[in-house]
Amino acid sequence: MKLKGVRGAPDLLPHESARWQRVEAATRSLLQRYGYAEIRTPAFERTELFVRGIGEGTDIVEKEMYTFTDQGEVSLTLRPEGTAPVVRAYLEHQMAAQSPLVKVYYLGPMFRRERPQSGRFRQFHQIGVEAIGSDQPAVDAEVIDLLWALMVEGFGIPDLQLRLNSIGDAACRPTIRDRLSRYMADRSSELCRDCQGRLTRNPLRIMDCKQEGCQRLVAEAPKPLESLCGACAAHFAEVRGLLDLLKIPYIIDERLVRGLEYYTKTAFEMINPRLGAQNALAGGGRYDGLIESMGGPSTPAMGFAVGLERVIASLPPALEEGVLHGVYVATLGQEAQRTGMGLLQELRRRGVRGLMDLEARSLKGQMRQANKERVRYCLIVGDEELRRGQATLRDMVKAEQTAVALDRIIECLMGLEGV
Ligand code: AMP
Repeated sequence: MKLKGVRGAPDLLPHESARWQRVEAATRSLLQRYGYAEIRTPAFERTELFVRGIGEGTDIVEKEMYTFTDQGEVSLTLRPEGTAPVVRAYLEHQMAAQSPLVKVYYLGPMFRRERPQSGRFRQFHQIGVEAIGSDQPAVDAEVIDLLWALMVEGFGIPDLQLRLNSIGDAACRPTIRDRLSRYMADRSSELCRDCQGRLTRNPLRIMDCKQEGCQRLVAEAPKPLESLCGACAAHFAEVRGLLDLLKIPYIIDERLVRGLEYYTKTAFEMINPRLGAQNALAGGGRYDGLIESMGGPSTPAMGFAVGLERVIASLPPALEEGVLHGVYVATLGQEAQRTGMGLLQELRRRGVRGLMDLEARSLKGQMRQANKERVRYCLIVGDEELRRGQATLRDMVKAEQTAVALDRIIECLMGLEGV
């Protein structure tokens, strides 16, 4: 039997990893500038954490979790998302005592048993940001500014859409829900089967149903923005004012919701319209009710999660992918290979990207390899030249060759552009 990987859990192959590393490096650099520190929680947790933190009745908890019982009879689940584990760690390690506003980020694989398709996987990667401890609109604005900076400046993705909404809080949510369910109840025969169930359990989730019939009803239905209480309306106005000040372009999307009870006020999504069906690159918002619902003290919080596979699929061709750099040492003969290895070791110790052939290929084969590796220089060392104390240095961009004295070679290479 041929062994194969699991459907929806792709390998990241060596020729693809440079892009991922660039995205990860840009993320770390930007988040550090915004005052966020990395948190790494385990890839699995007790199942009850996700049942409480994500919520019964959600697609994730109902049908998408990878849950197993370990030898100690404990039910464990591969993490389908990062917020619940961060909140667990926040409470378990009393992080609130360290700072009134805890700012953390994570980067790593998540697991959901969804139907694999383009842009939707069973193992995928998220960058997540959580700011825990403040209810100030300035936090919402800073977090959204950070997401915008990450996508536009950090990753260089063009033509993005930031969609923004407010979905109220404990004070106005009952009114929002009642108005919506009354409207929908009168027209329930036009709703899809899933949404008929949502009508009693969680009517707000009808708003983001993709079925055509439901969408038609939603277009005319009462929207959360129309029923915000005074505090939520003021909060939203302040967030919008700050985003205008920071020159972050956004579109108000009155249908945008986050389905769960503990999500409050600001909700947003980052869309790449060029991506097709799975075009959401990131989603986030306030979750002022979550920490309390997980057994902690009432604590406001705000965050987002970015899907890395979709970010990678959105990247423009990177300029630096075309730039040649480093040195390939091509050798002819056993003695030359020994000298070449010594030179290469010295170059690498000095931080240079250096490669050579270790399989006694022909010079032609080595030059082909040098081209494939996209090095800027090729240093050719032959036994004959060695006796004269020389080597040939070839600039692969200018296609020029010069003879260089062996005892000056390191010094000479270190001074060159593109090494
Ligand atoms: P969520 O945690 O569901 O709000 O997702 C946040 C972001 O993660 C989404 O906007 C997507 O970019 C990404 N994402 C969620 N689920 C998947 C998946 N199954 N495959 C790939 N990316 C995903």
